[in-house]
Amino acid sequence: MPATILWFRSDLRLDDNSALAAAITQGEPVIPIYIWDNRPQRPWPLGEASRWWLHYALEDLDAQLRKVGSRLIIRAGDPQLILEEVLHKTKASHLFWNRQYEPAAIARDKKLKAHFTKSGITVESFNSSLLHEPWEVQNKSGKPFQVFTPFWKHCMTLPMPQKVRVSLKKLQVPKSWPKSESLNSLELLPKVKWDRGLAALWEPTRQGAKKRLKDFVDKALGRYSQDRDRPDLKGTSGLSPYLSFGQLGVREIIDALSKAAPGSAIKFISELGWREFAHHLLYHFPSTPEKPLRDEFNRFPWKKDAQLIKAWQSGQTGYPIVDAGMAQLWKTGWMHNRVRMIVASVLVKHFLQPWQVGADWFWDTLVDADLANNTLGWQWVAGCGADASPYFRVFNPVLQGEKFDPEGDYVRRYLPHLAKLPKKYIHSPWKAPVSVLHEADVILDDTYPRPKVGLKEGRKRALDAYEKLKSL
Ligand SMILES: Cc1cc2nc3c(=O)[nH]c(=O)nc-3n(C[C@H](O)[C@H](O)[C@H](O)COP(=O)(O)OP(=O)(O)OC[C@H]3O[C@@H](n4cnc5c(N)ncnc54)[C@H](O)[C@@H]3O)c2cc1C
Repeated sequence: MPATILWFRSDLRLDDNSALAAAITQGEPVIPIYIWDNRPQRPWPLGEASRWWLHYALEDLDAQLRKVGSRLIIRAGDPQLILEEVLHKTKASHLFWNRQYEPAAIARDKKLKAHFTKSGITVESFNSSLLHEPWEVQNKSGKPFQVFTPFWKHCMTLPMPQKVRVSLKKLQVPKSWPKSESLNSLELLPKVKWDRGLAALWEPTRQGAKKRLKDFVDKALGRYSQDRDRPDLKGTSGLSPYLSFGQLGVREIIDALSKAAPGSAIKFISELGWREFAHHLLYHFPSTPEKPLRDEFNRFPWKKDAQLIKAWQSGQTGYPIVDAGMAQLWKTGWMHNRVRMIVASVLVKHFLQPWQVGADWFWDTLVDADLANNTLGWQWVAGCGADASPYFRVFNPVLQGEKFDPEGDYVRRYLPHLAKLPKKYIHSPWKAPVSVLHEADVILDDTYPRPKVGLKEGRKRALDAYEKLKSL
C-alpha cells in the first residue's frame, strides 16, 4: 500500500497543520519524519538556545503522534539522501511538507521538488506558517511592500485564512516503519548545563503553547496596547518561540482571539503583522540576513571593537536596562521587545558595532531566533532596512529605562546586585552620590561598571559616523 511521507520542519504541531490535513485526505498510511540537517555547510545552523527548544519540541511531537497510534521518525543528515532512502524503502508515492521562507530552505525545497517529481513522486507543499504568502502580497505597481503600514493595510483587505482543524483519533500507519535514530543521538541539549533558567521559564510543548495563549488572552490581551512596551510587566504573549517552531500557528492564534472582547486584539494582530512583514521582506530580499537592504549602509564606518562586543554580550555595558536585557536573554533565552530595541541601539549606535554582530548573538541565544524577524529587528534599529527607524534617532538608554521600567523592577529582577539602589539612580548608578552607592552595596567598576561609552560621547560617535556615511 502506498504511503505519504509528511516531512515536519518548522511546523511541529498536529492541529492547524495543512500538510498533515492533506496527507490524511490521501487515505494512505502517513510516515511523519523530522530530518536534522547537520551538514557543516548548512547556512544559519540553529543556535544553542533553539537547539535546546527543538529537543523538547520533537520529544513532544513524537508523544502527540504516539497518542494517535503513530510516531515520529527522526533522522540526521542530508535531507535529499534521507528522503530518497525512505521513499524507496517505504514505496511511498507522496511527499508533503509545509513551506519555509528562509532563502536556503526555499532553494533546497525547489531542488527537492524537481528531483522527486522527476522520479514520479507527488510532491506538494502548503502554507501553515503565514496568513498570506509573500508572493501574493504586492503594492499597486506589482512590487513588494517596503513600508509596514501600507503592507498591513493591504493584508487586512485580503480574506483572513481560517484555522485548519485536524481532529485526529488515529493516524494510519505503514506496515513497517523506516529506520529512526534516537532523539538523544542528535545531541541538541547542551553538554555544559547552562539551561536551568530556560527550563524554569518555558514549557516547550504543544500544551505549553496552548496554555500560554489562553493565559495571554484571558489575562493580558485587554491591556496589550498599554502594557506591551513595559518589560517590568507581563504585557506581551511570550508566544514567539512557539511561533518560530510552529508549535502554534498564526491562524490558530487569530481564531483564539475571535473570542476576546472586540477591539482589544487589533494592536496584537498588527504585531503578528510585523511577523508577516518580516517574512515578506526576507522572501523578496533574500540577502538581508547578511547585508543591509539599503545599499549605502554597506559602507558604514563601523568601529569593530572586541572588548565592547564582549561587554555587550556579557551585560557589562554600564547601562542597567541594557545589562538587565542581556541577563534576561542569557538566563531565559528571551528578551522583551522594547529591551531588544534598546540593547540593539546601544550596540550599533553608542558602541558603533555592526548590526550583524548583534544579530548573530541573538541568533545563538534566543529560543525564538527567527531569521525573518531577527533580520527585520536588527535592520530596523540600525536604520538600514525597510521602514527602519532613521539612524540619526539615537535611543538614550537611561531615558528609555526610566520611561519603560519606571520603578526599576525589571533591572532589579535581572541585576540583583543593583536591587538596593533607589529608583532615582537605578538606571544611572554612576550619577548616584557615594553615600547612596554605599547604602546600596554598589561599588562602581567593581560590583557594577560605569558606562563603557558615555551617553553624550556615544550619541556624538553615532551621529558623526552617520554624517561620514552620507559624505562617502
Ligand atoms: C533587534 C531585534 C531582534 C529581534 N529578533 C527576533 C527573533 O529572532 N525572533 C522573533 O520572533 N522576534 C524577534 N524580534 C521581534 C520581537 O522582539 C519578538 O517577536 C517579541 O519580543 C516576542 O515576544 P512576544 O511573543 O511576547 O511578542 P508579542 O508582543 O506578544 O507579539 C506576538 C507575536 O507577534 C510577532 N511580533 C511581535 N513583534 C514583532 C516584531 N517587531 N517583528 C516581528 N514579529 C513580531 C512575534 O511572532 C510575537 O510572538 C526582534 C526584535 C528586535 C528589535
